Amino acid sequence: MAKAIAKKKPLAKKSNTIKLNFDTSWEYAPAPESKSAATINKQYDLFINGEWQQPSSKKYFDTINPATEEKLSEVADANAADVDKAVKAARNAYDKVWKKMPAKERAKYIFRIARIMQEKARELAIVETLDGGKPIKESRDFDVPTAANHLFYYAGWADKLEYAFPNRRTEPLGVAGQITPWNFPLLMAAWKIAPALATGNTVVLKPAETTPLTTLKLAEIIQEADLPPGVVNIITGAGETGAAIVNHADVNKIAFTGSTNVGKIIQRAIAGTNKKATLELGGKAANIIFEDAPIDQAVEGVVNAIFFNQGHVCCAGSRLYVQESVAKEVIRKLRDRMQSLIVGDPMDKNTDIGAINSREQLNIIQKYIAIGKKEGAEMYESSCALPSKGFWCRPTIFSNVAQSNRIAQEEIFGPVLSILTFRTDDEVIEKANNSPYGLSAGVWTDKGSKIFNMTKRMRAGVVWANTFNKFDPTSPFGGYKESGFGREGGLHGLLPYLKLIN
Ligand code: NAP
Ligand code: MG
Repeated sequence: MAKAIAKKKPLAKKSNTIKLNFDTSWEYAPAPESKSAATINKQYDLFINGEWQQPSSKKYFDTINPATEEKLSEVADANAADVDKAVKAARNAYDKVWKKMPAKERAKYIFRIARIMQEKARELAIVETLDGGKPIKESRDFDVPTAANHLFYYAGWADKLEYAFPNRRTEPLGVAGQITPWNFPLLMAAWKIAPALATGNTVVLKPAETTPLTTLKLAEIIQEADLPPGVVNIITGAGETGAAIVNHADVNKIAFTGSTNVGKIIQRAIAGTNKKATLELGGKAANIIFEDAPIDQAVEGVVNAIFFNQGHVCCAGSRLYVQESVAKEVIRKLRDRMQSLIVGDPMDKNTDIGAINSREQLNIIQKYIAIGKKEGAEMYESSCALPSKGFWCRPTIFSNVAQSNRIAQEEIFGPVLSILTFRTDDEVIEKANNSPYGLSAGVWTDKGSKIFNMTKRMRAGVVWANTFNKFDPTSPFGGYKESGFGREGGLHGLLPYLKLIN
């Protein structure tokens, strides 16, 4: 497949669309990871009370490989009765086992899960890539190790909560209902399960419909780690299954990562109840390049910020603000670099940009590309050939974008960058903050004082300086405004799972 992809065919020029079409100086022989290092069952049931249980409806739905459109497996469709079973199992485990267990014993289980995850790292990376379409080098080098790191980190906190919150007594909340999106399935599951278990809560977790497999693999790991039955329950299903978790009367906390739209539905649903919530929602991150920045480094950072994981990243740097004096140079270098990105088989270790996660998501991205053209922005797209099957999008840049354009305001969630220019610090702060979102941002400059000035004034949960998309379990992550509330990661990530007493 990679060979076919490397061949470039000339493409026609359109009015405001320029397809980049020049040879890159390197081409790599295909280096595919082997599917045989992973086991995917034909069918997965629900993991409730430490056992695999059939869904009460007996219904299953397919999960496919978005790079080939082939069916990988079928997974159970949980309804409200199954959710109820899972919540009861979680409540029972909470009351009878987990909240009574000494914290250092709880920690041992979390360490064990983390260690097994490391042992199975290669298999988990393969399954993540097959099910979701992201390049193997990302699942291998980022998703799986970062997920294990989160478990290790929070395992360390379990018996040290008195140091995290000095002079306060802490109590767990009870049963946590957790709902994850499709862009970082295993990592999001680890982000949610690790702090919940460390603080003494039990869990009912639902992964996204298109990428359930690594979370089901995590259930197998949890079983292997001998976690007491019911402490973690994994149930699969669509949005209605998620809604049944949200609306269940015996769930004490909702941890949701996903779109702002669904986040609003959840907030409405739990209004007036005692449920605590953290909502990690959408983003439209501003990435700002000043004229004194190391331009080559910044260009590489911008490529990473928007094309990493096909732009399926809530904190993707999807709005680029470049200081006018260097705009020409930055755009030229970005176009050149974009043309050299390898798009195609996600299992190939050379691939930079894999498959779009689903046909629905591809339709959304294509709709926004059409909107960008209509809004009059100048579009460049890589001229790379795309595989004939599967869901694909060439990396795309829009320049001459206006602040009011929809492609500068709305989340596209694909490999599409909108470029705007600015002259002064005040102007770019104003523009960067002019967004309904506030999840992340980036600043590229040689000047430390400028970094501090910008980070202080930017309304975003995370601001990266001279880097982008860097994650660490010790750092809190979360947004402002329509990007949600609450923090995951770090000491801050413990708090949403605890009651602080006196
Ligand atoms: P989504 O459509 O909101 O779905 C997220 C999860 O919620 C999925 O498991 C989904 O199930 C479930 N769900 C759907 N409707 C629901 C309802 N009414 N009640 C409860 N649960 C419901 O988001 P997505 O398309 O999977 O993910 C992309 C979005 O996530 C983007 O907006 C991105 O910015 C955001 N995101 C944010 C962060 C962050 O940390 N802030 C991180 C990653 C992603 P189904 O899949 O079965 O529909
Ligand atoms: Mg899939």
